[in-house]
Amino acid sequence: NLAPEKIREVEDVVSRGFFPSTYWELLNRIAAYYYTPLIQVIRVALPPGLLGRSQRRLRLTSLGKDQDVSSNTAIFMSPTAQQVIQLLQKTPTGDYSYYYIQQKVKSAYRGTRELIRLGLAENYLEPPRLNQPKLQKAVTLLDNNYQDLTPRQREIVEVLRRQGGESWQSELLQTCSTSTSTLKALEQKGYIVIEEREILRREQSPLMAGDQAKSLTAAQTNALEAIQSLNGFAQILLHGVTGSGKTEVYLQAIAPLLNQGKSALVLVPEIGLTPQLTDRFRARFGNKVQVYHSALSDGERYDTWRQMFTGEPQVVIGTRSAIFAPLPHLGLIILDEEHDGSFKQDSPIPTYHARTVAQWRAELENCPLILGSATPSLESWVSVKEQGSRGAEEQGSRGAEEQGSRGAEEQRSRGAEEQRSRGAEEQRSRGAEEQRSRGAGEQGSRGVGENNFISSPQSPVPSPQYLSLPERINSRPLPPIEIIDMRRELQAGNRSIFSKSLQEALEELKERKQQGILFIHRRGHSTFVSCRSCGYVLECPNCDVSLAYHHVEEGAPQLLRCHYCNYGRSHPPHCPECSSPYLKFFGSGTQRVAQELNRQFPHLKLIRFDSDTTRNKGAHRNLLSQFANGEADLLVGTQMLTKGLDLPQVTLVGVVAADGLLHLSDYRANERTFQTLTQVAGRAGRGEDPGRVIIQTYTPEHPVIEAVKTHDYQSFCDAELEQRQALNYPPYGRLILLRFSSLDPIQVQNTAQIIATTFSDQEGFEILGPAPASILRVANRYRWQILLKFAPDALPNLPDWREIRALCPTSVSLTIDVDPINI
Ligand code: ADP
Ligand code: ZN
Ligand code: ZN
Repeated sequence: NLAPEKIREVEDVVSRGFFPSTYWELLNRIAAYYYTPLIQVIRVALPPGLLGRSQRRLRLTSLGKDQDVSSNTAIFMSPTAQQVIQLLQKTPTGDYSYYYIQQKVKSAYRGTRELIRLGLAENYLEPPRLNQPKLQKAVTLLDNNYQDLTPRQREIVEVLRRQGGESWQSELLQTCSTSTSTLKALEQKGYIVIEEREILRREQSPLMAGDQAKSLTAAQTNALEAIQSLNGFAQILLHGVTGSGKTEVYLQAIAPLLNQGKSALVLVPEIGLTPQLTDRFRARFGNKVQVYHSALSDGERYDTWRQMFTGEPQVVIGTRSAIFAPLPHLGLIILDEEHDGSFKQDSPIPTYHARTVAQWRAELENCPLILGSATPSLESWVSVKEQGSRGAEEQGSRGAEEQGSRGAEEQRSRGAEEQRSRGAEEQRSRGAEEQRSRGAGEQGSRGVGENNFISSPQSPVPSPQYLSLPERINSRPLPPIEIIDMRRELQAGNRSIFSKSLQEALEELKERKQQGILFIHRRGHSTFVSCRSCGYVLECPNCDVSLAYHHVEEGAPQLLRCHYCNYGRSHPPHCPECSSPYLKFFGSGTQRVAQELNRQFPHLKLIRFDSDTTRNKGAHRNLLSQFANGEADLLVGTQMLTKGLDLPQVTLVGVVAADGLLHLSDYRANERTFQTLTQVAGRAGRGEDPGRVIIQTYTPEHPVIEAVKTHDYQSFCDAELEQRQALNYPPYGRLILLRFSSLDPIQVQNTAQIIATTFSDQEGFEILGPAPASILRVANRYRWQILLKFAPDALPNLPDWREIRALCPTSVSLTIDVDPINI
């Protein structure tokens, strides 16, 4: 006997009450595009501080991952979820009065009042406010009845008055040595108002010296003006060589927004570079800068998240998941180093790419999006190119003839082999042919903007506008890159892991009081340990990979570790197979390089910068500031030092072995290698002194290495895109990867097989596999996969994800990786 307008579905309550409609729409788009239950999307969007509780709830109520959307959504309201669901279950129709639920839940769950209020507030943007009428009344009452008050009560009132009429309860109690019951009595008479307020914990930020906007170069001015002339949703690809002043452009694009009461969101790939970048932003914008990433404690994350909610103008800097920052007045989104693979989540679902989500978010919030990079992703590059604007004539024809043939052959055979091993030979040739003719038509007639790299089922996103910063600040030259053929070094009798040139450069470093960076692909000491007598390789018992050797310290038992499952064991003195004592280390990691450096260059001071040395909170910042203060001559590290570090005193960059990057076996290996090498090279010569880059390799003739040497991004792209197109790989084709894993090797294979057959009678896409993953077993789980390839503008009619999942027995887990980048 409720009025119908008082009955709402839970989903409706949650969406209206908690999220603004644009945000809700974003979450729904992600759920649809990434074939993910909405509840899982909500989980990545919300801070873990909030979700720790709801996840526990989830298990308690045993509501599985595949429940239908409306009841799942209610769980998000946990910690009250269970109550809500119970209430709903008591009603025959499964719905209930919104107000009734609100009342019930509110009174029963005192501890989470804040959350409830947020969840059901009419307008969630309003910060908590003191109840003004009640307060007015209290003031009058107090004035009229002051004489009646007990001495204790009077004392409280006096202290409150001295403090401007407000105090925290705990402080008040201490000052007046009174109890809460006295306060309650005062409140009951209406003389005072007690209100709960949140105290937000934030990451303590170091005080930064203020920093003024720099006067921009012509190219920077041009870029800034283009950005500022945007109105509403638009994308810009800011292609600026390393050290060209992109960050300065970001800073100056953001400044006026804050004055207009808007906020900005800046996404960066990895936490390693955030302290430095954050400092630059803090120096400019002070405490308007918020940092949001997974290295914060749950409490800090939750509170930062709440701070964003307030709607005060602010700049949020964060990693991938910060794309979900609940900023109400979003004026600009920036994705710095947009090519970087860490913007993609491989697991758990949703397997979102922050760039894709950023495009949707910018569109929904109607604000501009800047994609910045020195080495743009091929996706962004192609979408700019296809826009037919600037760059189309310039980039269109050139590379194909000149560069295309170089290395194309090599690649083609590699690609083909890969395909064949997946047992999809006919499919490949059919697909390639189809692709070729389709591609030709596309280039010829359709051209502009139709074939966007994002093919959201909901709405295609317009292509970005291209802006470039082709030179470094003050016309500093890009560092010359020397490629060293390590085979020749060996022939000339040099058995060291350092070439003659690198050795000389390292010697000079100290003399010239300069600093250097050495890039090594792997952490640890050695990538594998093998017996010289019988060839036995020490492997992880849980994974199909060799164990890496980690040097602990002299005298302590040395450690073998699996980089996939973190299994560890002591290093055996003898070969477990033949008892030979001659165990040899192969493949150099950061530790071994550091050891070698200490041996050969004892006067050089080193800092190792990899995930082993930066495990503790604040370690990134500490190590980098030690280095910046000149406490070391060399920074020796992995991937994380390729990303955005701006260390003007660094003149030398060395890459110990470029080959480790190239030989990764997926279709993006070339692109990733080019980007990594160009980025690491870009750390050299950013200050007054010119830089020098030395890349050691066993395959100097590789086209990627050649393109890196000449800083020739266009040629690289043209050659690479030709390959991608021939094989129907992104950005010309789209991929969906189904990853299966199970402890049971037979069951996982069978499941993959069964699911593959459900696709086989469908039109419009190629199926590659099922095939074992490149490493079949990780952490005792056997992994199989199916790769679906299809044209970007023709989304195939895939079965509902629920149907696909329903075919998986509980012992087999399935991740649907949409637009996968690690295959
Ligand atoms: P990017 O982000 O493209 O790598 P940065 O913004 O870090 O480049 O700029 C490289 C260096 O040049 C930084 O040390 C920065 O402070 C400095 N810089 C940037 N813009 C200017 C400018 N207009 N005038 C002087 N120095 C600048
Ligand atoms: Zn042996
Ligand atoms: Zn392992």
